[in-house]
Amino acid sequence: MSAHILMVDDEPDAEELFRQNFRREIRKGALRFDFARSGREALDLLAFEDPPRVLLVLSDINMPGMTGVELLDEIRRRWPSIKIFMISAYGDDSTERAVLEKGAEQFFTKPVDFMQLKEQLTTLVEATG
Ligand SMILES: [Mg+2]
Repeated sequence: MSAHILMVDDEPDAEELFRQNFRREIRKGALRFDFARSGREALDLLAFEDPPRVLLVLSDINMPGMTGVELLDEIRRRWPSIKIFMISAYGDDSTERAVLEKGAEQFFTKPVDFMQLKEQLTTLVEATG
């Protein structure tokens, strides 16, 4: 069972950071990561597979062009079964409340606590079989 995750972040270093932190899971085939650098690119990737096999989208909030919150709205509308975790450099309560109300499962602040993220990912993957 391999869970497919789409990571969306405009920061060029984000991909390498996630590949390093999930090295073991990726090598074992437990997790598969795709990376997009914008909300638009993420939507194009999701639309490419019908229905998308992505279990979870992990998205940054502050990105040029489409924001992570706009991406969240669009994914909820088009693919309601996809789970979404949001990540922001700014951990204010109102942003967290807003994205959870819009249907995100979790909210993380940067720098990402990878122990906590892995726990939440494991819970999610086990719950969705
Ligand atoms: Mg950003």
